[in-house]
Amino acid sequence: MTEIQDFVNSVVDESLSDEAVQAWMLNVFDNGLSVDETVELTHAMLHSGTVLEWPSDFAHLVVDKHSTGGIGDKVSLILAPALAACGLKCPMIAGRGLAHTGGTLDKLESLPGYDVQVSPSNALHQVTEIGCMIAGQTEDFAPADKRMYAIRDVSGLIASVPLITGSILSKKAAEGLAALVMDIKVGKATFMTSIDRAEELASSIVSTGEGLGITTMVTLTEMDTPLGFAAGNALEVLESVETLRGAGPADLEELVCIQGGILLQATGLAETVDEGAFMIHDTLIDGSAASKFVEMCIAQGVDASVFASEESLLSALGLLDTELNTTEFTVPQPGWIAAIDAMDLGQVVLELGGGRTELGADIDRGVGFVLEGHIGSLMVVDEPWITVYHREPLSDAHRALIEGAITLSNEPTDAESRVL
Ligand code: URA
Repeated sequence: MTEIQDFVNSVVDESLSDEAVQAWMLNVFDNGLSVDETVELTHAMLHSGTVLEWPSDFAHLVVDKHSTGGIGDKVSLILAPALAACGLKCPMIAGRGLAHTGGTLDKLESLPGYDVQVSPSNALHQVTEIGCMIAGQTEDFAPADKRMYAIRDVSGLIASVPLITGSILSKKAAEGLAALVMDIKVGKATFMTSIDRAEELASSIVSTGEGLGITTMVTLTEMDTPLGFAAGNALEVLESVETLRGAGPADLEELVCIQGGILLQATGLAETVDEGAFMIHDTLIDGSAASKFVEMCIAQGVDASVFASEESLLSALGLLDTELNTTEFTVPQPGWIAAIDAMDLGQVVLELGGGRTELGADIDRGVGFVLEGHIGSLMVVDEPWITVYHREPLSDAHRALIEGAITLSNEPTDAESRVL
């Protein structure tokens, strides 16, 4: 048995103390690992628990995406059903939010009844019949990562490319994937603030994913600005439903179409990424992605009546709650929006109760914000640029952060593609 396999075994059977596990990972943090060693580490972590297996008639169509996370990043909620509508199978195991980045499971749980616990037999049934599921990680999924991540978190060992690669890919590969697209966010509101570090992680993810036999592709996308208009759990579900119905923000739709196009091309259902992107776009226009989303939610416990009307959806999401207050902020002078600081706004949502600072803490799913304009919008004086949803009165510190989050320009600005 190799040293790496031996290490992972001892992490799982707990024959190594926390201090010894930390010391091994500190060595990796300081000295790195070669590609072969990273593949070996990820392989061992992946096989420390259950690995899903799919029937041979569709195993080659099983795909997923993962994002390193950011403000307003709701791509998964739209992409999984859109992929299913195109004939792919997406058994997405998603996570919860921590700090300013939101979690897909927290967002979906804004829908009353949505159950993130799906047993392996129900997963097989749901993915076979509907084509997608979005569920939480069970105890027996990559247990090595669970212990290693917890130790890294308290000992400042998160920011190591081989350790991040092993952590993310061991969980994703346990879904039994044929292809994976990894969206690495770059910018002030994510953990990869420089393009160089993001490219280093991209290269490690691609070579390790390929080393595990998964067709692996990466997108690098901007995360200085919130993605779409809405951030906050329930507000993001609402914007996802609008996007699934073909009426979403252009930047969000772009990422959904490109990442979906990449997976359709990788699995041979489209000849090119562009063709795949158009196929995804069609599912947003013809209602088939929205239907898959509703089917998935119903299979995971949501009552069909939630989707009967705009009002029933708003009510189910808690957005008609009279205790939820809204405050509009207006622009101090006319101009074109040049920048919106996602990190400052994300911090406000976190402090309003929309996110958690420690694992397992409760969150308020109703709070958040909706931008009334985005990069490139021309704002006239006193026009609102953001509506903030909050339960308690906003503090002076929150007001200052929100007011300082917008930069206006006297010259026209352009909304550029978020793909770097
Ligand atoms: N997300 C993970 O799951 N693991 C990491 O190490 C970093 C981000």
